[in-house]
Amino acid sequence: MSNNINVLGIELSNSRLSLGVGNLGGTLDYVERMPASPNLDQDEFERLFSASAVALREWVDARGIDLRQAAMSIPGYGREAGNPIFPWDMARLEGFLGKVLPGLPLALTNSVVAQAAFNRYAMPSTYAVEGDHLFLFVGHGVAGVIVNEAEPIDAFSPFEMGHMVIERDGLVCRCGHRGCVEAYTSLRAVSTIIGVPGNEILARGDRFLDALEVDNVAREMLRERQFLLGLALGNALNLHPVPAVVISGWPSLTPESDRSAIFDGLNQSLLGGYDEGRLSLSFIAPSIGNDPKAALSYAAYCFVSGGGLEAASDARAMEETA
Ligand SMILES: [Zn+2]
Repeated sequence: MSNNINVLGIELSNSRLSLGVGNLGGTLDYVERMPASPNLDQDEFERLFSASAVALREWVDARGIDLRQAAMSIPGYGREAGNPIFPWDMARLEGFLGKVLPGLPLALTNSVVAQAAFNRYAMPSTYAVEGDHLFLFVGHGVAGVIVNEAEPIDAFSPFEMGHMVIERDGLVCRCGHRGCVEAYTSLRAVSTIIGVPGNEILARGDRFLDALEVDNVAREMLRERQFLLGLALGNALNLHPVPAVVISGWPSLTPESDRSAIFDGLNQSLLGGYDEGRLSLSFIAPSIGNDPKAALSYAAYCFVSGGGLEAASDARAMEETA
């Protein structure tokens, strides 16, 4: 039954705008991905989306599919003072999407919240952590969200660990500052180190490191970047202590001997040092290049948690008795 219910996911990630349709079971039956600047402005977004919405509508209509929920995930979304990464007018965005997708309930969320929803509700589940923890996503952006088990996932507030400055006058970041964690540890930084273009990494997905002859210099650099990630993570945990951290990102794909650098970094910044008895750190595969699956998962989550499934089965029962 839930396989007949379709949702729409829209994602701004990996320097592209992706939209896709799938069912509540996590399929991706229709997808379109368009290159988009990491600093995409709102006019350009509207132009790109309007063009792709025509093809989407044709695909949906040809199959008699009734879309029930849409969700869009945006890096940096949800800050009261506005989004410094995509400084768009949110009322205008909602108005625009409401016009292009009339009658379709829409949820906007931060990219890391959508990633957390994707990982927690993935079937089969690979998410072994229970209890309150930090979910840290290390992709084109680097962001975390404190997962409080007593709260629904849409109530979580993300924090932009990627823009913690760890090197004064360091590498340039897309936010305009220098020396941010993201400039050192995002997939874009990795792409530069290993000499593989970003779109090729996305096409290879979670196996992008397997096929490579990563030389010792690059490997040492990746270790150093993981050390910096650990350093930043320890600082974040000093501000907001939690007993467990789950990392989803390229470090999850590196050999254990390399990602031990994260523990070394943690050890140098976390108050009291790193102690596995006090902090459990685990890694899950990031599903690189699968956008907009995270936004789709979030749309499915919103549909189900909003009571959509019950309403749909009530309607089905009424049809059957009629
Ligand atoms: Zn930054």
